Formats: sequence, C-alpha cells, structure tokens
Amino acid sequence: MEFDLSLEEAGFRDEVKAFLEAELTEEVRGGMFVDTPARVAFVDKLAAKGWLGMGFPEKYGGSKKPIALAQFILNVELELAHAPIVGKNVGVIANTIFHNGSEEMKDEFLPKVFKNECQWALSYTEPQAGTDLAALQCKCEDKGDHWLVNGTKRFITSAHFADYHWVAVRTDPDAQKHKGVSIIIMDADAEGLTYTPQWCVGSTGAERTNEVFYDNVKVPKNRLVGEINKGFIYLMQALDYERFAIISFAARVRRFNKVAEWVKEAEFGGKKLSDDPAIRSKFATLATRVEIGTMLEKMCICVAAERVPNTEAAMNKAWASTIGTEIANLALDAMGPYGYLWDGSEHAPLEGEMVDQYLMHGHSRVAAAGVDTSKTIIARRLLGLPDPLGKPFLPNQAK
Ligand SMILES: Cc1cc2nc3c(=O)[nH]c(=O)nc-3n(C[C@H](O)[C@H](O)[C@H](O)COP(=O)(O)OP(=O)(O)OC[C@H]3O[C@@H](n4cnc5c(N)ncnc54)[C@H](O)[C@@H]3O)c2cc1C
Repeated sequence: MEFDLSLEEAGFRDEVKAFLEAELTEEVRGGMFVDTPARVAFVDKLAAKGWLGMGFPEKYGGSKKPIALAQFILNVELELAHAPIVGKNVGVIANTIFHNGSEEMKDEFLPKVFKNECQWALSYTEPQAGTDLAALQCKCEDKGDHWLVNGTKRFITSAHFADYHWVAVRTDPDAQKHKGVSIIIMDADAEGLTYTPQWCVGSTGAERTNEVFYDNVKVPKNRLVGEINKGFIYLMQALDYERFAIISFAARVRRFNKVAEWVKEAEFGGKKLSDDPAIRSKFATLATRVEIGTMLEKMCICVAAERVPNTEAAMNKAWASTIGTEIANLALDAMGPYGYLWDGSEHAPLEGEMVDQYLMHGHSRVAAAGVDTSKTIIARRLLGLPDPLGKPFLPNQAK
C-alpha cells in the first residue's frame, strides 16, 4: 500500500502551502476561530480560491474538488500552520444542511457558507444536558406562523461573534426524549437572544465560551432543519462531522512536531535530552501512535465523500483526544519543572503551550462525545456489542 501523497496530491498540498506562506500573517496565526476581522479576511481568501465549497454542487455555490483528498490536505495544512480552520461552517453546518435541509434552506445558507459570509454558533449544551444531549430542555413551540424558543444553553463557543445559532431544541415534550428534538437556525440578532461570557481557563489565556439565553425568541417557520422531531438524528450526524472536521487530528501532529523539535535542542545538566534512551523510546512510541491518527483522519475524509462517517469519526475522535493527552503528558515529563511555567516566563518551554494543552485536554476528552462515548459508538455500531443496559441504538446512517 502506498501511504505517500501522489504527485497530484503533493501538487495540491504545495499550492496550499504556498498560499499559506503568502497569506498567513502572525495576526491570523494561532487561533482556530474566525473571530477577528483579520481572520475573516484570511478565510475570505480561502473562499475566493473556491476551497470552502469543494465537492458541493455548483448550484449551491460549491466547486469541483481538484482531487479526492483535497479537503483532507487543506485541513491538514491549515492545522499544521496553525491557521483558522473551516471545519465548523463547512464541515458541520454545510454538510448537515446539504443532507437534511429543504431546497430553500440550501439555497439560502450554502452559498453564504462557501463565500464565508456568515459565522455560526453550535448551540447544544445545557446545564442538564452535556454528554446526554437527549436530555435537552430548550423549549420550541409551534405558534402557527412562527416558532417560539425559550431556554438556556451553556459553553457556546462562538455566540459572541456568530451571525447564526444552530440550536438543538425540544419540539415534543411528551415524546421519548430523543424523539422530541429538532434543530432550528436562529438569527444571532433575534429579539430575546442574549449571552454572557463563560470562561474556560487555561494557562496562556482563557478560552471564551458563553451562556446563552433564549427568552421568547420568535423564529420563522422555514428555519426548521429537515423534519420536526427528527433533530436528534441530524444532531448525531452533525456531531459525526464535528468528530473529524473540527476535532482534527492534524492539530495533534503540529503539537507533536513542535515538542519533538524542542526535545532535539533541549539540554539539561550539560546533556542533550534527545540522547536519553527513555525519552527516545517514549517519543518513538508516540510518533507511531501519531501516525495512526493521521490515517484515521484520512479514512474519515475518504468515507465522507460517500456517506456520513460514523464509527470512523468516533475512532478519530477517541484517538485524537487520547493522543492529545499523551502529547501533553510526555511534553511535561520531558520538560520537568520548566514544563509548568506559563506564558510570560522567559523559561517557559514553547511559550507555555504544553501546560495550556494539559489544562485544556479535559475539554477535548468530553467535547463532541467523550472518549468513553466514542468508544461506546465503536463497540455498538462497529463491533455489534450489546448495550449493557439493553437500550436500543438509533440508526444514523443517512447518505
Ligand atoms: C471550551 C469549551 C467549549 C465548548 N463549546 C461548546 C459549543 O460551542 N457548543 C456546545 O453546545 N457545547 C460546547 N461545550 C460543551 C461540551 O460539549 C460539554 O462540556 C460536553 O458535551 C460534556 O458535557 P458536560 O460538561 O455536561 O459533562 P458530562 O456530560 O457531565 O460528562 C462528564 C464526564 O462523564 C463522562 N460521561 C458522561 N456520560 C457518560 C456515559 N454515558 N458513558 C461514559 N462516560 C460518560 C464524560 O465523558 C465526561 O468525562 C464546550 C465546552 C468547553 C469546555
């Protein structure tokens, strides 16, 4: 089996690299969100290249894929360069609308996504509904000519700069809990929508999320995604996409490469760290595990050309989060006490990035299905193992 990129694929990768070399400024680098004018302008340039809508029909503003692995190569190169990624808008929103939305909805939103004319907040989590999303309570009532939404969401990452909220709501309070859920699209400036910052603290800064309040928010009828009360299935698909399009393995590759470069140079007590047999052995083992992650990510992208990746995405998610933790742990082991110095200290290796990753890895382990939940998906859907509690499992294999 040939693992290297073909000549054609390498040509596209070089084109992306050259683009990043020319366009990625320090002001843009370092964040995954499209939350500043400079980052929006950067993603506008990706859009102008036709790289946001690759593989989607032209009638919705999409463009032809130059090669089968174009999306994978683009994501990897964006992550390796620490540029903003496009996994949320394109990977999650556009794909879920494309598979489930009405023609009117596709016509309205897909071209905007592919032109980078809108940013989105994924609004799922509630005080009583995290991993167990089917427990969500945010109420959505049919008022004849509009929907009326009331509820509270928390940890919503992009709510303070989004144009639209992609909201999981309860449309049937009497149905079984996963059968009464729908998804609606809400304008971020709708009357009754307010938010307040909710900070998740790392060492080099805090990551902003938001608590969001929907207080009698009126939503037009045509903003319901797909069919009413089928939202849990769409939600599962959206999360399948999130498990590789946002939780990209390439981000782990970048971090691993950074730590490996640091180890090559580091000296303690006049000895090179890279000469230590224990360090060498640990890095070699981890390098192999990192390579497996790249293969899993590639598999997701290949499958996504045919159907919604499900068990593949769960494998990518579980592995990416596990390896992210292992990279942070190994880095801090290798750095010794210096590893715990934060940004601002001249002695902090890699500007404190690894201690930051160490503090944030708890989030990666629970976001978009925890490692445990991902393993449950693999056990039940891929291996066909029975549920210990005898619960039925929802089918989720929409094309
Ligand atoms: C920085 C950050 C950004 C976020 N951004 C968003 C966002 O943009 N939109 C959004 O909707 N949410 C967002 N979240 C919320 C995030 O998705 C939730 O934190 C996550 O779903 C876990 O929910 P919880 O915090 O209630 O933990 P819980 O669900 O209480 O889970 C706690 C632990 O128990 C484990 N666990 C729970 N149930 C099971 C089970 N059945 N089997 C095995 N293990 C289980 C979990 O894996 C986890 O380790 C964000 C969170 C953070 C920290």
